[in-house]
Amino acid sequence: MNKQISVVIPVYNEEEVLESLFQRLFPAMDELKSTYEVIFINDGSKDKSLEILTKVHSKYPDKTVIIDFNKNYGQHMAIMAGFEQSSGEIVVTMDADLQNYPEDIGLLIDQVEQGHDVVGGVRVNRQDKKWRLLVSKLHNSLRLKLTGIDMVDEGCMLRAYTKDIVKQVIATEENSTFLPALAHSFAANPTDIDVRHAAREEGTSSYNLYKLIRYNFDFFANFSKAPLEFFTMLGLAVSTISFILFLYLIIQRFMHGPDAEGVFTLFALTFFFIGIVLMGLGIVGEYIGRIYEEVRKRPRFIIKKY
Ligand code: UDP
Ligand code: MG
Repeated sequence: MNKQISVVIPVYNEEEVLESLFQRLFPAMDELKSTYEVIFINDGSKDKSLEILTKVHSKYPDKTVIIDFNKNYGQHMAIMAGFEQSSGEIVVTMDADLQNYPEDIGLLIDQVEQGHDVVGGVRVNRQDKKWRLLVSKLHNSLRLKLTGIDMVDEGCMLRAYTKDIVKQVIATEENSTFLPALAHSFAANPTDIDVRHAAREEGTSSYNLYKLIRYNFDFFANFSKAPLEFFTMLGLAVSTISFILFLYLIIQRFMHGPDAEGVFTLFALTFFFIGIVLMGLGIVGEYIGRIYEEVRKRPRFIIKKY
């Protein structure tokens, strides 16, 4: 049966928080007086998360859907799978770790009912490590410039979408996606509202610096050609400067005769340029890799549904 609200929650090694999540989420949802389903996606957890989820499903078979991935595909693919399984007129996403407040879901629903098709949560007083906040700040300032996507807090996963937006997102069939940004790019009447944010009490964030760099690169490669364009401009600048240097050396040659000094400077310069060229190849490769992933047309994820 179709529900009014679907809540989509990706779960990766969250055995410590799931019970407290249930204790707050179900009462908060009951209070809304709408029919609802909570879709949990177990994203290849290595702990007891799946066991806990199947248990809650036997307790509330009508209110829960459990999707189990055969391996870890990442938070965004998990949400995508949740979208595909959702039947709600309004679809809400949130994190499992209680950094978002389940009690705030009602605020988002209100906004959708007032006619907004995408409602973004904005974490007032965001409770994350300092370096994460710094990376986000940098990301946000670049995002608008490079991709034109104008959202306030892209990293906040407490968000609500209408069914139509969710359908559009599913239809993209993209492999590596950033769902909040993708959905936002389809919105006709988006809005952002303040929501609360708590520090993670149990478990650890699964993002480390490497994952975050990958995330950021993926993001910009997904939504813009800026890295490629930047590289073209860099190539242009370097060849202009080299050309001027070349002219200067020719003039030197005629005025002061042959000059064999500076061999090591030449080495350093050469390695520098080789480095730039390799980086450029890497950037082109990143795009080709993405094209490859898309044309291969493998299934995005393998699921089992409870
Ligand atoms: N998550 C997931 N797959 C992953 C990493 C995370 O499904 O590979 C889930 C995780 O269980 C949580 C949400 O995505 O519900 C956000 O993850 P996390 O708290 O680690 O990220 P942070 O809050 O630090 O951005
Ligand atoms: Mg978290």
